Amino acid sequence: MSASMRILLASSNPGKLREYRELASGSEFEIDLLPNFRDLPPFEESAPTFAENGAGKALHYSRFTDEVVLADDSGLVVPALGGAPGVHSARYAGPGATDTDCVRKLLREMEGKVGDERRARFVCVVAVARRGCALAVVSDSAEGVLAKEPRGINGFGYDPVFCFPDLGCSYAECSPQEKNRHSHRGKAFRKVCELIMP
Ligand code: IMP
Repeated sequence: MSASMRILLASSNPGKLREYRELASGSEFEIDLLPNFRDLPPFEESAPTFAENGAGKALHYSRFTDEVVLADDSGLVVPALGGAPGVHSARYAGPGATDTDCVRKLLREMEGKVGDERRARFVCVVAVARRGCALAVVSDSAEGVLAKEPRGINGFGYDPVFCFPDLGCSYAECSPQEKNRHSHRGKAFRKVCELIMP
């Protein structure tokens, strides 16, 4: 099937781009990075909710192009840590921290936590906008359990410590296709596609 609608992803996260490209493959959508993303005035993701950050990001970046822009605000919510890292997932271990630093900090905070205390949820808000108007804002989530140490080499972010009970492995141990079938991002993207289908 040939792509009939191009969507520009407003993100500097290569892990997200890889996943959206894989999710869109074979569909009527084609995902590209928003050109010059890094040179555009940045959107400050300072809101306390994924929804506000996601919608704000999509609206902001859609003002720099005539094409449809998609923004993703996502993160890991751990009830036993009062919802942390939550909207601060990308910078949990401080500004400039790497994924490995963030995972290490999370594992430290989880020390001594057992059973249900190790439950965690990935949340993803996908917002789509064009020329400053919102076309769709959707949210979905995936429930899992935090491992005691990193497992697997695929994916990005907290994937090595997020275990998906139905699959019996961490996100970083699954294939990209398996992760996308079950993930917060995969479910949210499929919902948004239905809403904006050309
Ligand atoms: P955002 O750019 O503010 O949405 O940051 C999202 C952050 O949440 C990422 O940098 C990761 O740390 C984490 N995150 C979101 N989705 C995933 C995922 O699918 N796997 C692993 N980590 C994720």
